Amino acid sequence: MSENCIFCKIAAGTIPSRKVYEDEDFVAFHDINPAAPVHLLLIPRRHIVSLQDVTPEDASWLGRMVALAPRLAQENGCNPGPSGGFRLLANSGAEGGQEVPHLHFHIIGGARPWKGRVAPNA
Ligand code: AMP
Ligand code: ZN
Repeated sequence: MSENCIFCKIAAGTIPSRKVYEDEDFVAFHDINPAAPVHLLLIPRRHIVSLQDVTPEDASWLGRMVALAPRLAQENGCNPGPSGGFRLLANSGAEGGQEVPHLHFHIIGGARPWKGRVAPNA
């Protein structure tokens, strides 16, 4: 746990979040500022800043983290199959657009009926 890390505090339960999943290694919760109908954040409990800090020794837990994403997506409203789906995004470092320096995957999806009609690029 890193002092003053907001996601470490969410993992520890010392600041509130809308959790959808937790086990001994990972926690998932709703993004406070969703960019789509489904917008979850999946984090490791262990404090690691970003994918820039990952080494080959991390392959095992990272693989489990990636494998959790489709399950969490579907359990939280993303549609299955080729007509559904989701986006898995890890902003890494300042130039990668990362704002919270604790590794996290954005799981983004859900039906967006306006897409392709009112605002094609939304
Ligand atoms: P990133 O830019 O990839 O670091 O994304 C950080 C994300 O964390 C943003 O989408 C924020 O909306 C989200 N966020 C920040 N604080 C909280 C919080 N307390 N609970 C849930 N999501 C948060
Ligand atoms: Zn942290």
